[in-house]
Amino acid sequence: MAFSVRFWGVRGSIACSGPATARYGGNTSSLEVRCGERLLLFDAGTGIRYLGKALNGGAPVDADIFFTHTHFDHVCGLPFFGPFFQPRNRFRLWAGHLGAGMTLKRVMSEFMMAPLFPVPPEVFRASMEYRDFTVGDTLKAGEASLRTVALNHPDGATGYRVDYGGKSLCYLTDNEHVPGAPDKKLLELIHGADLVIYDCMYTDEEYPAYVGWGHSTWQEGVRLCRAAGAKRLVVFHHDPEHDDDLLDGVARDVAKALPGSVVAREGLVLEL
Ligand SMILES: [Zn+2]
Ligand SMILES: [Zn+2]
Repeated sequence: MAFSVRFWGVRGSIACSGPATARYGGNTSSLEVRCGERLLLFDAGTGIRYLGKALNGGAPVDADIFFTHTHFDHVCGLPFFGPFFQPRNRFRLWAGHLGAGMTLKRVMSEFMMAPLFPVPPEVFRASMEYRDFTVGDTLKAGEASLRTVALNHPDGATGYRVDYGGKSLCYLTDNEHVPGAPDKKLLELIHGADLVIYDCMYTDEEYPAYVGWGHSTWQEGVRLCRAAGAKRLVVFHHDPEHDDDLLDGVARDVAKALPGSVVAREGLVLEL
């Protein structure tokens, strides 16, 4: 059965529109993963609004939404996701980075609250199930199995490895590396993976100015993939300051460094 990923939002930190980012896209993190009939969504940045438009009008939607974490750029599209407003749809929302005493439901309620937002999550008409888990747990979505790992990011974040039909995709954002000391847990998670979507906010040259900000570089993504025998890197979570011309350069360099690797752009579909 088909296993694919479509990118609806590839930008980090804040959406950025305009001609300089038009080709790769300015929407924040949103992925659509298909495992046969099963629909798995990852993060709910501004890109998810467009995914919602594509899903609306089709068959009833039954999907799992897995959050890396709940920083604003990864959740701000949620209230604008059309399928949440149709009673025939069902969603399970998953988060594993929140510590004791905090739940995904509460984060949602506090983010959709006056005077920050005009309506609460109770406006959604779809069936919404909030599922908190502990990072490190292995989750199931139909025939797909998802291993999870803690990422190095302020307030925590969860990385995922999806295994389905003998193929595997990893989604690791937002994550800061320690130069010269590859994260053993990450290497183990991405071992032999077919596709690794990684936080490549900066270049190695830029990184020293952003130590502690919680992000990594495309060169570190290449080093991790090589060390773990992962096949292809997808450069993801682009800095809003990185325009299309700069990303064209990264695309050339990453394809040379690890053949088959690409820079994520809105609308890109990769089959596993
Ligand atoms: Zn982010
Ligand atoms: Zn973040």
